[in-house]
Amino acid sequence: MKISVKDGPSADIRTGETVGDALSELGIASLDILAAKVDGAVVDLSRPLSANSIVEPLRFDSSEGREVYRHSSTHIMAQAVKELFPSAQLTIGPALEDSFYYDFAFERPFTPEDLERIEERAAEIIKRNLTITRREFSKQDAIDFFKARGEHYKVELIQGFPDGEPITAYTQGDFVDLCRGPHLPTTGSIGTIKLLNTAGAYWRGDERNPMLQRIYGTSFPTSEEVDAYLARLEEIKRRDHRRVGKELDLISIQDEIGPGLVLWHPKGAAVRLLIENFWREQHIRDGYQLVYSPHTARLDLWKTSGHLEYYRENMFPSMKLEGSEYQLKPMNCPYHIMIYQSHLRSYRDLPIRYGELGTVYRYERTGVLHGLMRVRGFTQDDAHLFCRPDQMEQEVSRVLDFTFFVLRTFGFHQFEVFLSTRPKESVGGDEHWTLATSALEAALKSRNISFHLDLGGGAFYGPKIDIKIKDALGRSWQCSTVQVDFNNPERFELSYIGEDGKAHRPIMIHRALMGSIERFFGILIEHYGGAFPTWLAPVQAVVMNITDHQRDYIAAVVAQLKAAGFRAEADLRNEKIGFKIREAEKAKVPFMLVAGNREMQDGTLSVRGRSGSNIGNKTVAEVLDLLQTEVTHAQQDFHHTH
Ligand SMILES: [Zn+2]
Ligand SMILES: [Zn+2]
Repeated sequence: MKISVKDGPSADIRTGETVGDALSELGIASLDILAAKVDGAVVDLSRPLSANSIVEPLRFDSSEGREVYRHSSTHIMAQAVKELFPSAQLTIGPALEDSFYYDFAFERPFTPEDLERIEERAAEIIKRNLTITRREFSKQDAIDFFKARGEHYKVELIQGFPDGEPITAYTQGDFVDLCRGPHLPTTGSIGTIKLLNTAGAYWRGDERNPMLQRIYGTSFPTSEEVDAYLARLEEIKRRDHRRVGKELDLISIQDEIGPGLVLWHPKGAAVRLLIENFWREQHIRDGYQLVYSPHTARLDLWKTSGHLEYYRENMFPSMKLEGSEYQLKPMNCPYHIMIYQSHLRSYRDLPIRYGELGTVYRYERTGVLHGLMRVRGFTQDDAHLFCRPDQMEQEVSRVLDFTFFVLRTFGFHQFEVFLSTRPKESVGGDEHWTLATSALEAALKSRNISFHLDLGGGAFYGPKIDIKIKDALGRSWQCSTVQVDFNNPERFELSYIGEDGKAHRPIMIHRALMGSIERFFGILIEHYGGAFPTWLAPVQAVVMNITDHQRDYIAAVVAQLKAAGFRAEADLRNEKIGFKIREAEKAKVPFMLVAGNREMQDGTLSVRGRSGSNIGNKTVAEVLDLLQTEVTHAQQDFHHTH
């Protein structure tokens, strides 16, 4: 059979030869190859080859390679736990983006001392350099095998697998784990395993199930990489929006109010107001009409929209009122549809673009709630566009331009774009899907945006474009989405009168740029570590006196700044100036303006930046200029290209 290395040599290889051996015969063998992709599927190096194929070696520098690496690391950690604590039962242990975890059923939480021992034992298992082998079972044999080993969670997992398909397990020394694989060839292929922390986690994420003991860890080829990763983790912790949100008094989530329900304190609310004002202003400029809709509606509306059938588990329970049932809204779409439908529409009226900062409520299990990132009540920066099929591409292009403009304004400059196509379970005719998918693709191409194809990843009602932003720490966050919808126009029997005088179905586009304001704020907090750019800072300048003599001067300066539209505060407390500066620095205020007698006499201020930079003495007029430049520089206008 002919085996070719991707972008490399090819040769005739004996059928049945393993991937690893084939690579050596092709002269590509090296210890840093972790696994390989054969015709697109990631497999073990020990997998035999049976047909002509293209082989791509995977190393630590690829995300697939890292996943295999981390996944193998989680097995090594699990083996260490089983050796030290034989009564611990295995459950699941996936690889994460830069780390991994394993959940064990164990009678008590693991202590920091346990973690040290487990880490040492993992290092020992790496040293043993055990061969990792794959083994196939029938479903019944797998159940019997893991039952005999006392691994009841594994048995439960296997029972949930489809009948008739082989089940695989991986063995290293005496350790066997149910696993789809693939894995590294030996335990010695791992450099260093570092355990990070423990947490409680419910089996299958459901709080009605037993609590498991989760251990998080990471692994890298070298210890230097581990150190760099740990430093990054520290930085992530330092920027955690829950911590910063509390330190800067931006938001709170209180149990008396309910999990996943956010209180915006004055400073957080000030930032939100800026975000919202910017959002509204730009939408109006870009041809959107802003609307408002109530937080609840008759249950029947959600029946028509299909949410009751397809989305009920994510909705709050309905409530009875005057013999009718009402539903707290999980989405804004049906309301916008009803506004569209309130008039007869002509082809000349389209496109119609409705935008709303619409607050929705969704049921999320307590276990998955996370600060601002996963909540039960949040405001979507939502919009629905109704257009003719021939307008789709242009509308999507406009939305893309607008999205990138908004995201860039907030300081995000790196994006990852995905185009998701028709999933197996979906509604609508092929011609619709083809038309919409090619319109999305054409829009991306017309803007020279490179994108990944997510085959089958679309919504059941239409294809979509998702945009992920990268934050200052290189983490990706999915925020923006543009989704074509054939289903709702059908369900609500939407129409417009075409040029031919007949009724036609419009196409509906759902889109959100930030996604949820709560989550976007959480991302912003972490992106900036709370040090918002001047245009977004809740307080832009604190003006401080050195002695009581300058009180009136300070008050006059603050009044001037405020009159010019800046958010300024006076700090007239009878405290040392060093203390006041430190406080303002801690509050991440962009500018500290200090006045003693000399400044007062000269009509100047001594200006400091929050990073400790000394900007020098400036007149009040110069300070106003400085602030103005900072603000306008960040908030460029959207130059209309369409
Ligand atoms: Zn595994
Ligand atoms: Zn929608």
